[in-house]
Amino acid sequence: MSQKRNAIITGSSSGIGKCVAEAYAKAGYGVCLCGIEEEGVDVARSIAKNFDIPAVYLKANLCKVEEIQKLYQFATQELGDIDTLFNNAGIQHVSPIEYFSTEKWNDIIALNLSATFHLSRLAWPSMKKNNFGRIINLVSVHGLRASEFKSAYVSAKHGVIGLTKVLALEGAPFNITANSICPGYVRTPLVDKQIVDQAAAHNLDEIEVIDKILLKKQAVKDFIPIERISSLALYLSDEASGTITGSPFILDGGWTAQ
Ligand code: NAD
Repeated sequence: MSQKRNAIITGSSSGIGKCVAEAYAKAGYGVCLCGIEEEGVDVARSIAKNFDIPAVYLKANLCKVEEIQKLYQFATQELGDIDTLFNNAGIQHVSPIEYFSTEKWNDIIALNLSATFHLSRLAWPSMKKNNFGRIINLVSVHGLRASEFKSAYVSAKHGVIGLTKVLALEGAPFNITANSICPGYVRTPLVDKQIVDQAAAHNLDEIEVIDKILLKKQAVKDFIPIERISSLALYLSDEASGTITGSPFILDGGWTAQ
């Protein structure tokens, strides 16, 4: 397949990022994957093989600015100019505010919010030069609504919605768009861990956690299919989507309708 454009997809060793990386590769993008685990290299290898497209992986801790720089350099060396950024890497920690660890707060703000700023600023000069850039930030319904015990996550995700709007305004003269995607619950390893933690905390079984806690605020009592996110990401990345910018796209099963 001929390579059309190049995308960095952070947090792509598993979950939403992995599915989005596969969708970009299938659509003909060269893809640079990144995650905190070694095994992401196997994900990239299988994408390269399945879609006959350059797919590379870097293990990097994006809580650290120097590792974000390393990722950007690696991606451009391996693929060339980066047109599309899918800022997705994220972590969660659930705790009442008075016990919320400072270290967890710092890590969540660094990864879920600051890494989006750093990668965007690094990619900006080449996007400007090429008069084309697409930045898509995987936020959450928690960028628009709060839940108790998620102080760092909710703060970071609200911050990304604000950052996205600023990028949209600054990018408009250069055909750089920035949008955010705000899903409700998607069944991924991040959510699987929450189910186990909540079951222990509330003395419930896992089905009860899904019904009574996780999907309680969604009108549609189903997880959001990951494929809906990857198809929206591709749509927002398209050349024809140049006038769509600064918007939070809500895929939340009706959560924010209330
Ligand atoms: P996941 O746990 O399946 O994947 C997280 C990814 O982030 C992994 O690839 C992991 O390697 C990477 N990562 C973790 N720490 C990192 C670090 N320090 N440096 C670099 N990479 C790191 O998670 P997911 O459910 O696919 O979530 C992806 C994004 O979607 C997150 O930003 C999350 O907040 C958001 N989100 C998820 C849901 C959901 O229900 N799953 C809902 C709304 C928003």
